[in-house]
Amino acid sequence: MSEQCPVCGGNSVTALGRPQDMPLLMNKVYASPEAGRAAARGVLDFAACRQCGFTWNRAFDASLVIYDEEYENDQAYSAAFRDHMQARAEDVIAAIPAGEPVDYLEVGCGQGRFIACIQDVAGGRVRSATGFDPAWRGADGEGASGSRLYRKYFEPATAALLPYPPNAVVTRHTIEHVPDPVGFLTTIRSALGPDSTARIWVETPCVSWILENRAMQDFFYEHCSLFTAESLAAALRKAGFKAPRVTHVFGGQYLWAEAFCGGEDNEPSLERPAEFDSLEGVRRDFIEHWQSELRAARKEGVVALWGAGAKGVSFSVLIDPDHDLIDHVVDINPAKQGFYLPGSGLSVLSPEESAKRNPGTIFVMNPNYIREVAETAREAGISGRLLPIE
Ligand SMILES: [Zn+2]
Repeated sequence: MSEQCPVCGGNSVTALGRPQDMPLLMNKVYASPEAGRAAARGVLDFAACRQCGFTWNRAFDASLVIYDEEYENDQAYSAAFRDHMQARAEDVIAAIPAGEPVDYLEVGCGQGRFIACIQDVAGGRVRSATGFDPAWRGADGEGASGSRLYRKYFEPATAALLPYPPNAVVTRHTIEHVPDPVGFLTTIRSALGPDSTARIWVETPCVSWILENRAMQDFFYEHCSLFTAESLAAALRKAGFKAPRVTHVFGGQYLWAEAFCGGEDNEPSLERPAEFDSLEGVRRDFIEHWQSELRAARKEGVVALWGAGAKGVSFSVLIDPDHDLIDHVVDINPAKQGFYLPGSGLSVLSPEESAKRNPGTIFVMNPNYIREVAETAREAGISGRLLPIE
């Protein structure tokens, strides 16, 4: 293969398996099962760089994925996820020297949930909080508690909207949606200006976690760029940020990188990323394993999934293509309840509605949520057993 890695430029690139198709938008819900099953699909054709571990979808077509105000991607209904956001906000605020006001910028701020978290943790220290996101649903320039949220991309042309030069810049769960991640970070770096002394934090899924855990349901069309710790540090350096330090958070599922606009650089980590081989066999084993689990559970009663997010969408597409094993999906996000998933067309129910169908087994999409899922299920009167996908 003569392809080059878009992050490190290495030319040892390996295909991760045969191309397959998946719904384009994993977080959109539909008004009927038919509309869900007819949802537009795109091709997953992932390749990995053997040098830095960056993994990307070579078949990705950005023109097929539109992030508009209909985009629903709010995980903040989960207490475990809120705890995680709180911990990240504490990381950011603790890094700004006491006595210095916080001028906060978020790129890809969604509906401003994390900005609210930052304001909460910082108390009165936030002097300005500005967010940019093409999916922002509120009035342009108006967010909660004095923050300013813009339905725009952050780039040199929109940087003039910042009331103060930011000292804390965060971009969470955004870079994996971008087909040119180095270009994305370079745009942020240049929009901040040559004299910026800001720190930047980047949060994104860890592809090493996905591969080590054989989490085949974690490859999505929207996530066209997946990082290892090494490749995220490399992308930050290439974009002009200095001294990147990457840690694992959220039970290892996410990378959390911190880097600087100014100062000295550090030495790149010499740690080799995991071996990348074809995932063809892993994917086949994954599908066979969970199909046999679901068939056995189906013999004993109604089978449901817990979690109508991207993992639930891809799991149901991979494991139940004939729509005869899974009855419904439970989700605590009211914006999804009463609607139907893309791909499988499965109905999304509240825990209380699910209890009426008396599920015998519920497969829980994210093991990080198992404790709160157990509690919510019990309160809703669900007596079936809960099995985490891990
Ligand atoms: Zn590379």
